[in-house]
Amino acid sequence: MAYEPAQPIAPLPVPDRLLMGPGPSNVHPRVYGALATPVPGHLDPVYLGIMDDVQALLRYAFQTGNRHTLALQATGMAGMEAVFTNLVEAGDRVLVCVNGFFGGRMCDIIERLGGEALRLEVEWGQSIDPEAVRQKLRQERAIKAVALVHAETSTGVLQPLEAIGALCREHEALFIIDCVTSLGGCPLQIDAWGVDAAYSGTQKCLSCPPGLSPMTFSPRAVEAIGKRRGRIPSFYFDLTELFKYWSEARVYHHTGPISMMYALREALRLLHEEGLEARITRHARNAALLIEQLGSLGIAPFARADVRLPSLTTVRLPPGVEDAAVRRHLLNAYNVEIGGGLGPIAGKVWRIGLMGYTSHPRNVYYLCHALRAILC
Ligand SMILES: *Cc1c(COP(=O)(O)O)cnc(C)c1O
Repeated sequence: MAYEPAQPIAPLPVPDRLLMGPGPSNVHPRVYGALATPVPGHLDPVYLGIMDDVQALLRYAFQTGNRHTLALQATGMAGMEAVFTNLVEAGDRVLVCVNGFFGGRMCDIIERLGGEALRLEVEWGQSIDPEAVRQKLRQERAIKAVALVHAETSTGVLQPLEAIGALCREHEALFIIDCVTSLGGCPLQIDAWGVDAAYSGTQKCLSCPPGLSPMTFSPRAVEAIGKRRGRIPSFYFDLTELFKYWSEARVYHHTGPISMMYALREALRLLHEEGLEARITRHARNAALLIEQLGSLGIAPFARADVRLPSLTTVRLPPGVEDAAVRRHLLNAYNVEIGGGLGPIAGKVWRIGLMGYTSHPRNVYYLCHALRAILC
């Protein structure tokens, strides 16, 4: 027949890497097991029960009682796009705190929707001062929402949320957060911290393959969607439709990504078995061990100690070290992936993830051993 490949295509040629970059993290063996489960019809009562389990476990992971909690059928970026597509329309003004790469993407999406992104920008590596948010909310009129990234994977900064959540309530603005790299690895309290809309991803601290975006919406956010002036300009990401699909009515919207839902369910079961507190402590302890071990190699952290992200550590490249060559060497000789810098800090930092299943002392020791062999 025509169009045959020039050579026979070999079985999947994928080595089992140690994933210590900005994501994906290593998939837990039990999650791989779940992926091999048979696929029933997508409206089979058994599968619908699995969606219920995912919803219940997500409420635990997010620490929320929000009825409108679901897993969107695409990666974290789709979560970002869905949140803004539903909550922002032409003319809406959103205060976006930008302290890294992903805050910049939020502005891009808001502007594509005809909204106005008011940027509160600080240098990459810094966190946002709630006082600056307060001032902006006082100066500017009619701010519909404040948006920020909880865990900036580009800089390794964990943004404190509580004070900003309270300010949003005071000024009747919605509070929107990206928690792609914090869910399941860092303290996160959706209800207690006054978050109205949050989206995440499966391939970071949940140690699941990429492909779903867990998200949750407060009654205030749901009400804001109901009060839109115009139609939601996307069918696939129309949350009013997705809420019906994720309710008891189960109104068909799309065919559920069944195998990924199994994977997420197992990943969330692992989180629940370990317990959120123990999980958070493990991430904090292994990040501290990493910093200590790298310190003995003369490698210093980039982000300030009080806002350091436990799931992703940024470190300054030692002088004279060639960024790409070292990372290539780590990958080829040691089978380990770490991340390079983005934007203004490209070539200046490494980004080392210890997320979910990957957050284990043996991985810290292995990486540091490899780096010592390469650098010293
Ligand atoms: C990884 C990441 C995303 C994007 O998620 P994808 O799964 O790559 O679409 C968004 N925000 C943050 C903070 C991230 O780390």
